[in-house]
Amino acid sequence: MGRTLYACAAAAALVAALCGCQPTHKTANVDAARLTSADNEPGDWMSQGRTYSEQRFSPLDKVNAGNVGSLGLAWSFELSTNRAVEATPIVVDGVMYVTSSWSLVYALNAKTGELIWKYDPKVPRETGFHACCDVVNRGVAVWDGKVYVATLDGRLVALDAKTGNVAWSVVTVDQSQPYTITMAPRVIKGKVIIGNSGSEYGVRGYMSAYDAADGKLIWRFYTVPGDPSKPFENKAMEMAAKTWKGQWWKFGGGGSPWDPVSYDPESNLLYFGTGNGLPWDEKSRSPGGGDNLFLSSIIAVNADTGAYVWHYQTTPGDSWDYDSTQTLTLADLTINGTPRKVLMQANKNGFMYVLDRLTGKLISAKNFVPVTWAKGVDPATGKPIEIGDPRYTKAPSVIFPSSFGAHNWQPMSFSPKTGLIYIPGQEVPGAYGTDDKFAFDPGQWNTATDTKLNSLPPDAKARAAMRNSMRGELIAWDPVAQKEVWRATHNDPWNGGTLATAGNLVFQGTANGHFAAYDAANGKTLWTTDTYTATLAGPISYSVDGEQYVAVGAGFGSVFYLVAGFAVDKLGTPDNGRILVYKLGGRATLPKPNLTKIDMPKPPTATASSDIVTAGHAKFNRYCLVCHGYNAISGGVIPDLRYSPLIGSAAGFKDVVLGGSRKDAGMVSFAKVLKDQDAEAIRAYVITEANAGYAAAHPAGGKSGGR
Ligand code: CA
Repeated sequence: MGRTLYACAAAAALVAALCGCQPTHKTANVDAARLTSADNEPGDWMSQGRTYSEQRFSPLDKVNAGNVGSLGLAWSFELSTNRAVEATPIVVDGVMYVTSSWSLVYALNAKTGELIWKYDPKVPRETGFHACCDVVNRGVAVWDGKVYVATLDGRLVALDAKTGNVAWSVVTVDQSQPYTITMAPRVIKGKVIIGNSGSEYGVRGYMSAYDAADGKLIWRFYTVPGDPSKPFENKAMEMAAKTWKGQWWKFGGGGSPWDPVSYDPESNLLYFGTGNGLPWDEKSRSPGGGDNLFLSSIIAVNADTGAYVWHYQTTPGDSWDYDSTQTLTLADLTINGTPRKVLMQANKNGFMYVLDRLTGKLISAKNFVPVTWAKGVDPATGKPIEIGDPRYTKAPSVIFPSSFGAHNWQPMSFSPKTGLIYIPGQEVPGAYGTDDKFAFDPGQWNTATDTKLNSLPPDAKARAAMRNSMRGELIAWDPVAQKEVWRATHNDPWNGGTLATAGNLVFQGTANGHFAAYDAANGKTLWTTDTYTATLAGPISYSVDGEQYVAVGAGFGSVFYLVAGFAVDKLGTPDNGRILVYKLGGRATLPKPNLTKIDMPKPPTATASSDIVTAGHAKFNRYCLVCHGYNAISGGVIPDLRYSPLIGSAAGFKDVVLGGSRKDAGMVSFAKVLKDQDAEAIRAYVITEANAGYAAAHPAGGKSGGR
């Protein structure tokens, strides 16, 4: 018997040696050893930031500053959805695993782009209503032959990496509440870590760990305290509750941890950031103030138990939607001659934080773009020093950054070679004012701020000035000296995540349809290509059979284009998103999208009184704005209401707004919160905006133009 086994093994080894193929092994056979030693396999990109440190740095250098000019398209893959692509692909052993909007998962041959399998979790389209920021998904995790995806409606699904068949699926949220999930899971020592979104709509945020083998819940860490008349889940919640006033738990509190997770295997600390509170304005959320832990914070917990270890609150008593959910980059830096284990974040609030990742203590903080709400961060307390009246207590306040942030979900990268951080930064002003009429509507978009302040001024010159005050930038930042080294400026805000490589390159996509490589040391543009659509996702680099590839997802959508369509220079394409993969000498081509401008049809005559239009504007901003955009101007992600024939029909409009006749497209009924006369007032307001848009496109005596 022993002899026979030996003979078989020897024969198998011989066959493998003769044909040059590997002995059969599990697909995506990733384990703790592979993930913690990811640098030993520089050709793979096995987890979100390639390594647990979330540096998004590729040690590959075949593509480098000397030859990147000959980079060309190796292959592209058309996804099945036409909303934003925010996913960072994972590549293991020659297979790419990537997601598109509506939480679809694709396994592709990383060398050719050939589809191996596709998984559609069939997310009910009305779930899209509770997704503040488009129906996006940021990618998967892989572990021990399985691929993990979290779906928009709150499921965590494990798929067989070989076939795409469901191995197990658990619901991680109370689906009767307005939770969503857009983040990629992380697997740490056999536990799948997953958070959630929904802080504007009325949820209590938490991070959970599930057993990767069977989906059993192992631990859960709430990010805000619950009802203090009931026992607290842990000491951390008891501590947090002392920093709140009023009855926050009735609204859920917010604080959802909705994006990246980093991990330090040495200390076994798991790091994540938390989102804003519900509602945004602290005066409504926690009357009388308080820090409101753990909103807008960076939190470290024990990865095995989920037990609290430390927190650092970047924005105490947040009133501006300054989520602290941007990339958490871990690195070992020498600061003032001392080696330090740091965690770095370019926060939405405009400050770059360098923290001691073992203790959570502030090492340094400095603004990386113009910041007008605070003049700095107090080194003693770690708290921002607010200036003026940023909390809009006396009057509305216009500040930098806005709720879009100085940096948002688009991942940043760090190159250990240059010692620089590469931040997809932006400058967008935000006007904040108290909404005196605010009342919490469960499941609706609750900010308690006067969103009319951010609507466009009627005057064309003022509109142009507002638009011109916005820009995007790629900032190379020295985190030790806390100073900028170089920057590339983009006309539009809301550009792509970054990738740094050992080839002395930084890659970034742009809002206006380009993907470019910069010299990592000095910011010189070395290569650029046309992607024809917004290219926002985090790029990666990998190798197959000795050839280096650079990959990025592209597709129109995301919160900026939903809300701020007026700021979009280039039309969105109605086309499906794509995964684009480049290599030296690549010669594949992309089909050019149809970007023909559509003339706005002549809108119905505006006949409603100004009182009705004003009332309609208020209702529109409260209930419609987050998807249909300021001034009803769509960026092109979803249909522009001003172009819709429905605005000419009171009955047709009502049928959609109150009757829910388009719920399968994500447009649910608003009958719970709007009455007949509200729907009619909203229609009157949209007609007014349509007439303004039509007049701007058809100036008297001038030539006509589209949007
Ligand atoms: Ca937020």
